[in-house]
Amino acid sequence: MQNPFDQELQDRLVRYAAIDSQSDETAPGSPSTACQFDMLHLLRDELTEMGAQDVELTDYGVVLATIPGTAPGPTVGFLAHVDTAPQFNASGVKPRVISGYNGGDITFPDDPALVLSPAEHPYLAEKIGHDLITASGTTLLGADDKAGVAIVMTMARHLLNSPDIARGPIRVAFTPDEEIGRGVSERLPKDLRADFAYTLDGGQVGEIEYESFSADRAVVTVTGVSIHPGWAKDKMVNAIHLASKIVQTLPQATMTPETTADREGFIHATDMEGGSSEMVIKFILRDFERDGLAAKGELLRQVCAAVQAGEPRAAIKCEIYPQYRNMRYWLEKDMTPVDLARAAAKAEGIEPISVPIRGGTDGSRLTEMGVPTPNVFTGMQCIHGPLEWISVQDMATATRTCLRLAQMAAKG
Ligand SMILES: [Zn+2]
Repeated sequence: MQNPFDQELQDRLVRYAAIDSQSDETAPGSPSTACQFDMLHLLRDELTEMGAQDVELTDYGVVLATIPGTAPGPTVGFLAHVDTAPQFNASGVKPRVISGYNGGDITFPDDPALVLSPAEHPYLAEKIGHDLITASGTTLLGADDKAGVAIVMTMARHLLNSPDIARGPIRVAFTPDEEIGRGVSERLPKDLRADFAYTLDGGQVGEIEYESFSADRAVVTVTGVSIHPGWAKDKMVNAIHLASKIVQTLPQATMTPETTADREGFIHATDMEGGSSEMVIKFILRDFERDGLAAKGELLRQVCAAVQAGEPRAAIKCEIYPQYRNMRYWLEKDMTPVDLARAAAKAEGIEPISVPIRGGTDGSRLTEMGVPTPNVFTGMQCIHGPLEWISVQDMATATRTCLRLAQMAAKG
């Protein structure tokens, strides 16, 4: 243990990670899963106990609280999400602490075949001597985003106990369903009552992110002509064949998640289901720029139109729905929140890194809805899978950066 926040952060993450709060894309409602209330109720009660003000759990599943200011200044929000990713087993998480990491391969008690190796994960090689937290091998850890929760809670607790630290009012928010893109209710920007905010949902130390994907989703419905196969000659139109054709005609050696990186966007077929009479194909479309995103939607429409032209008896419908937009479009008009976070990191001796996020955050939506919300590192690594790990000291660095940020925001 190297500094005063280490033990608290470690204890909080271990405690929070053991609570199952996985979200579920297929479930309606907000939160999508009742188990997220286990986290939300706990955080509401802990905030109340530590003396935070205006503590509430909204009917759309967000915990809000105020840490009163001790000096004039803008109201700054700090957010983290309580849900964990639906992509991997997240029940029965058994967090495990490796004190003073020795730089070797890390094995897992519940899956002897699994190895986390510094050779394959260069960032791990930098963490010799740190205290690391992992799961046991059969689940994700859920540092995404319980590390963010632990950091915000530790910061809140510290500020409430430190009236001598000059800072403006702080608003704290814990959201559900970030992983399924449903964390930001239409009512959150108003209820948050913050001039600007930060999500604690980034990876390696130094990440201050203000660019995310722009995102649409698409649903293609192919309706064939259904008829008894015994007398189908010249009459049946099989929707499965047409749906396959659409997927086959779309780019596969390029413009897919598995063939793109950095600033390239993609069209990703996520689901295909149905039968010979009707098929539904779901896509997500991603690009950093509006033009690029629109072009991908247009390409999908053109492919559908071409397949439709080849079989006029079928009905092919292509519907595209907006999801979120690159937060840079709004943040670049006033970079103050980004510059503050960068300056705070520098003051902590950290070089800020700003790479575009190949995904979205609650901040993407919040920014679009009027609350500028860049993303700040937590230290989380190898998220959404069994190798997920985090350094307690990285979390402490994030906590100190946020505290510094709160003070610098008040000075203006
Ligand atoms: Zn996250």
